[in-house]
Parts: sequence; C-alpha cells; structure tokens
Amino acid sequence: MSDTPYAQVSAGTAADVDRAVQAAHRAFTEGAWAGAAPRERAKVLTRLADLIEESADQLARFETFDTGLPVTQARGQAARAAENFRYFASLVVGMHEDAFRTGDSQLGYVVRRPVGVAGLITPWNTPFMLESWKLAPALASGCSVVLKPAEWTPLSASLLPALTERAGLPGGVFNIVHGIGEVAGAALVAHPDVPRISFTGETTTGKIIMRTAADHLKGLSMELGGKSPVVVFADADLDAALDSALFGVFSLNGERCTAGSRILVEQPVYERFVERLAERAARVQVGDPALDTTEIGALVHPEHLARVREYVDIGVAEGARLVAGGDRPAGLESGNFLAATVFADVTPRMRIFQEEIFGPVVCVTPFADEAEAVRLANDTRYGLAAYVWTSDLRRGHRVAGAVEAGMVWLNSHNIRDLRTPFGGTKASGVGREGGAHSIDFYTESKIVHVALDGVRVPRFGAAQAH
Ligand code: NAD
Repeated sequence: MSDTPYAQVSAGTAADVDRAVQAAHRAFTEGAWAGAAPRERAKVLTRLADLIEESADQLARFETFDTGLPVTQARGQAARAAENFRYFASLVVGMHEDAFRTGDSQLGYVVRRPVGVAGLITPWNTPFMLESWKLAPALASGCSVVLKPAEWTPLSASLLPALTERAGLPGGVFNIVHGIGEVAGAALVAHPDVPRISFTGETTTGKIIMRTAADHLKGLSMELGGKSPVVVFADADLDAALDSALFGVFSLNGERCTAGSRILVEQPVYERFVERLAERAARVQVGDPALDTTEIGALVHPEHLARVREYVDIGVAEGARLVAGGDRPAGLESGNFLAATVFADVTPRMRIFQEEIFGPVVCVTPFADEAEAVRLANDTRYGLAAYVWTSDLRRGHRVAGAVEAGMVWLNSHNIRDLRTPFGGTKASGVGREGGAHSIDFYTESKIVHVALDGVRVPRFGAAQAH
C-alpha cells in the first residue's frame, strides 16, 4: 500500500448536478422507461444483473483496491449487488395494485406511478452493493436517477454507466455525479426537480439533508449509523454466539452499519466469553485485502484509521480493559491497518459504548439479568440492529420485542432476505427499504374511485331550488 494517487475523479459542481437532473427529468418525461411495462423494465434489470455477475471479479478487485475490503468479502458484495437487481426486477413484475369495493356502489383502485427523479446518495462502505440497493428498486419502479457516490470510493460506481448502457437502459435514465458531499450531494438534495432522496450515511449528515429537504417537502429514506447490541445470555449456544459476534463486528473491516459493536454478556459466562473472544480476535488475519486468506483488510482512508485509533485511545483513557488488538498488527508498518480490537468492562457512560466507531473495535459489557440487558441494549441514541442469543425462546422473543431496533436477529446472524424491511429507529434512520417498502418509496400511489351501479350522490343545494 502506498500513498500514491491511483485514480482521478472529477468533483461535480452544483451545475453538473443540475445538468444530470435535467437529463434525468427529460428521460422521465419522455417516458421510454417510466412508461414501459414492468416486464420490459425487468428484462433490462435482469440483463444488468447478468452483466454484474460476469464482471464480478473485476468489480470485487476494484472494490478491494478502493475500499481495502478483503477480496473474498468484496466478491460476496458483488454477488449481492447482482441479486438486488434480479430481485427488484422480479418484484415489480409480480406486484399487483390494490382494489377496494365499497358495498355494491363503488370501486376504488390504486394506480402506482414512479415519482420522477430519485436522488441516491451513498457511503463508502460496501459502495457498489449499497448503490445497487437503491438503484435496483428506483429503476424497477420506473424512476430516473441521479447517483452521488461517496467521494472516498468512486471506482466501482464508475463501471455503472457502461453496465447500464450495455443492459439496454434508455439514455438519461441513469446519471452519476461524483463529488464532495457538501457540494454535489447538497446540490442534489436542494434540487427542486428531485422529489425523493434515498440517503445512506452518517446520522449527522442525515440531519443536514433533512433540513434542506424540508424546504421542498421531499420524501426521504434515511439509513444512518448504528451501535448495535449483541445480547448473550448464559444459556445460549456460546460457540455459535461467539462465531456470530466475531463475524458481526470484524467482517467488512468493522465498517458495517449493522455491526454488533456492543456485546452484552450475562455475568456467569462473562469472563469466559471475554477470554475466548480476545483469543479468537488475536487470531483474525489482518493484512493485504487482495489475499484470499485476509479477514480484515485496510480501513478505507488514513483519516478514518486515525479516527478509529482515536477511539482506541479514548477507550484506554476511559478505563476500559483492552484485551485484544489496539494497534497495528506486527509487520504492517504502513497502510490503514488495525488489529481486531476488544475492550472489556466497558460501561454505558464511556464514549466507546455510545459512539459509532465504524472499525474493527468491539466493546464488551457484563449484565446481571434480563432487565439490565434490555436497559443496556437501549442505552444509546441508535436503534438499527440487535442480536439476541438464548436457548429460552420465550425470553428471546420478549427481549426481541423490548429492544429498540429496526431489525433483530434471534439466535441467528446477519442474514438478509431482500423481501424484509431494512432500516432503523431513533438516530439510525427514518423509513424502511427492502421488498415492497422500497417500491413504496419510489412510487406515488393514487386511488381512483369509480361509481358502480346505484351510487347515491348527495343533492347539495337542492333545498333552494324548490
Ligand atoms: P457520510 O454521511 O459522511 O457520507 C455519505 C454520503 O453523503 C457521501 O456520498 C457523502 O458525499 C454525502 N454527503 C456528505 N455530506 C453531505 C451533504 N451535506 N449533503 C448531501 N450529501 C452529503 O457517511 P460515510 O462516512 O460515507 O458512511 C459511513 C456511515 O454510513 C456510518 O455512519 C454508517 O453506519 C452509515 N451506514 C448506514 C447504513 C444503513 O443502512 N443504516 C449502511 C451503510 C452505512
């Protein structure tokens, strides 16, 4: 790894964004895509999925080069991107429109139309997959789009124009503007001809976007930060809980919104769990992301590494017990590397318990009983995901019901079914994406009421006539 620049990308201005929105708007109005039957759109998106699969290796290499994600995991993300296009293509083909019959007299039927130009703003973690997560339903719905990828990771997105063109997407439907968030992203959010913004990124950025979007009453979908708890009861399958906890916080370099970054462990098994976690963390392979054996690669950017390392210093200063990692692994003197890091005895008032670190750093905290587990789990401003491990299913469902999170995995790890709602509560987001939720977001529904036989119209003003 060196500090030599490896690519140059234009930083789009507000004028570039305006041109992209105009092109998208024109394409939308012309109707070749928006007016096409779902089946026709699905054909194009399925071809796009095929093309992504064919380029999966190149995509994964680009992604690894740009983000530092281990290549084995980047391959998985490329496959998931293809799956997103395939899934949303089939979803719109299978969707029906509701109809309501009111007695014998009236029928209401729902017409669903794409909203117009959708603005998609994405972060640098798993960039291509997250771009596909928004593009697939937006395009499947018939929207035109303007995508603003994260400035730290522009490479994989730069493949999209050629891929969409080869798939047969009509010109002007897909547009991309690279650029700095505060300039290009902000211009997209402020543009009057963009009625929807789907944003994934930090909570602080989400708040800024919401303020600007308020002026135009835009529809927003906000997938924001997290500090998700993993609650491990003493009666759990501890081997499975341990494997899942390691994967949950150290895969994708720990740069994962749903990372289980706070592990809460019931007291009788706490010390043993911490010991085993530390021992396993010390064996996690950190290094060259291009190697198949690497489990944690390089963090995305030197600035981000510095930020994550600052949290390690904060943890130590706050008095948490560092039981694994905390520094560069031996032999990796340059590059954005950090060993898998475990802090034990973390208390809720510590910043490392409260703040999203977004790197390979996990906090472990003991709890005495179920009530305390729930209290600790909810003692954060975030509410994205939660993981619960217990062999007592009644308790599992109780805790799943009580934790403040948009998604809970019970004796299970972060498996995502594309049909299910994805999103968070509290500072982790607004709205849900996934399955029909995504289609709802990119379409506007309209109800048409039709009189059937014998509808009785009130005779307003009839009294004066007589
Ligand atoms: P970020 O908020 O810094 O940037 C995200 C995107 O927003 C980038 O494209 C950026 O250029 C743009 N942006 C920045 N300022 C903007 C502004 N004023 N107006 C419009 N756009 C602007 O986030 P990041 O550091 O790239 O990503 C990491 C964050 O994303 C973490 O907090 C992580 O939890 C979150 N995330 C959440 C999910 C989820 O689904 N909940 C998924 C992945 C990542």
